[in-house]
Amino acid sequence: MIDIAIIGAGLTGLTAALQLQQAGYRVQILERAQRIGGVIQSHHEAGFTFEQGPSTGVIGNAELAELLQQFPELKQIADPSAARRLILKTHKGKQSLFPLPSGPKSGLQTPLFSFRDKLRLLTEPFRAAGSNPNEPLAELVRRRLGRDFLRYAVDPFIGGIYAGDPERLITRFALPKLYALEQNYGSFIRGAIAKRKEPKSDRDRLATREVFSVHGGLQQLVSTLGEALGEEALILGAESCQIAPEGDHWIIRYTRDGQLQQLEARQVISTAPAYELPTLLPFLSEAELTPITALRYAPIVQVAWGVEQALPQFHTFGGLFPSSEDNKVLGILNPGACFPDRVPHAGASMLSIFLGGMRAPEVIDYSDEEIRQLVTERLERILGVTTPPRVFHIFRHRYAIPQYEAGSQERLEQIQRLEAQYPGLHLAGAIRDGIGMADRVKQATLITDSIIGSSHGAQC
Ligand SMILES: Cc1cc2nc3c(=O)[nH]c(=O)nc-3n(C[C@H](O)[C@H](O)[C@H](O)COP(=O)(O)OP(=O)(O)OC[C@H]3O[C@@H](n4cnc5c(N)ncnc54)[C@H](O)[C@@H]3O)c2cc1C
Repeated sequence: MIDIAIIGAGLTGLTAALQLQQAGYRVQILERAQRIGGVIQSHHEAGFTFEQGPSTGVIGNAELAELLQQFPELKQIADPSAARRLILKTHKGKQSLFPLPSGPKSGLQTPLFSFRDKLRLLTEPFRAAGSNPNEPLAELVRRRLGRDFLRYAVDPFIGGIYAGDPERLITRFALPKLYALEQNYGSFIRGAIAKRKEPKSDRDRLATREVFSVHGGLQQLVSTLGEALGEEALILGAESCQIAPEGDHWIIRYTRDGQLQQLEARQVISTAPAYELPTLLPFLSEAELTPITALRYAPIVQVAWGVEQALPQFHTFGGLFPSSEDNKVLGILNPGACFPDRVPHAGASMLSIFLGGMRAPEVIDYSDEEIRQLVTERLERILGVTTPPRVFHIFRHRYAIPQYEAGSQERLEQIQRLEAQYPGLHLAGAIRDGIGMADRVKQATLITDSIIGSSHGAQC
């Protein structure tokens, strides 16, 4: 019998497995695909490097920083000259990209927000805090900051992070740090100032908030985690996984190469998405799983577009498109500007275009030709891209990003209830605790710590 079986070899599963293995546990990952990495996958073609999934992350917590410290040769920090984020807005009759203000002076000058909303910002510290714990993000932003901030700052950011709808995402679950600022300090501005003054531990300081990737593409991160784990800890091609409690341990049945296989483990960590759980956990009834399986996922179409054309005016992190300006495209990222090794030479650009999301779920079913036409039109009109692409790929993610909407509280309560009822079962992955790579690493670390902590407790 092994100590811990982990379902899924994405970033969450690999991180948890490595940390548990390093702490001396016998760990086995069961992964349905024939490769590790989950949604993280990098490609190389004609001198371009591009991603099918995330391109960059933010070093937003100590857990991710510590994981990257273990592999110092991997970390790649984005070129600071490409830090600017642009927002699309119709101004003087034409759609153009404007930098998101980075300070009070640019904030006053930007055409993104009306004079009225800029004035309103000055009174934000004096507005009363909200009392609805399940307030949608859009309501919170309208209440504190005004309509323009919702339209030209929060909506495009939420499109970029969640591919989601701020009218439906619940702040407490989708942006817990923002929710805490209002609840703990009464105001975003007061809270941000107070937080800056608060003493930070050396560990807190590891969360630099730098934009990072990995030399050669994010695939290198998951491949390195896999290599550190060792082949024996990975079972690839594990199909039709089913978990069942058996006395004080767990039996995991799966098929591999058409053969039924079985594994016994003291504990199980699932990192599978919500819609997988009814098949994975057949001992739970539909009623028990519904609060979790009700979680909706935003579909995303991602286009990799490598072109032999320099785009000096677009030497930025990328441009985000508010839903009021574009009802199909979420944004255009420019990883080639952040990480020069993504392009074969300085005269080339590697773009990543995101379409669909909750604002246009139908785009996932567009034909390749329709997607190509849509992207060609936007790139030509907004960025002046006139050269045909050297690299062009369409990646469809039908269930890309979980949406922490109404029902999130019920989902989390049900997860807690099931974990309490079935000791040794950990329901993890992006069904809770955040959707970004930093969130995934933090969750894996916390679960690992709790497993190590409870077995030490048991030994005492
Ligand atoms: C298009 C896209 C863009 C993104 N962009 C960013 C970004 O810019 N920055 C950022 O920080 N984050 C981004 N994210 C989010 C981030 O990539 C993910 O949160 C993270 O990689 C998820 O890791 P995971 O291990 O939790 O899940 P996954 O990567 O989904 O891995 C889960 C694994 O479990 C396996 N599995 C599932 N069910 C079973 C089963 N029943 N049996 C066996 N195996 C199973 C799957 O095959 C998969 O390999 C993006 C996500 C997507 C989809």
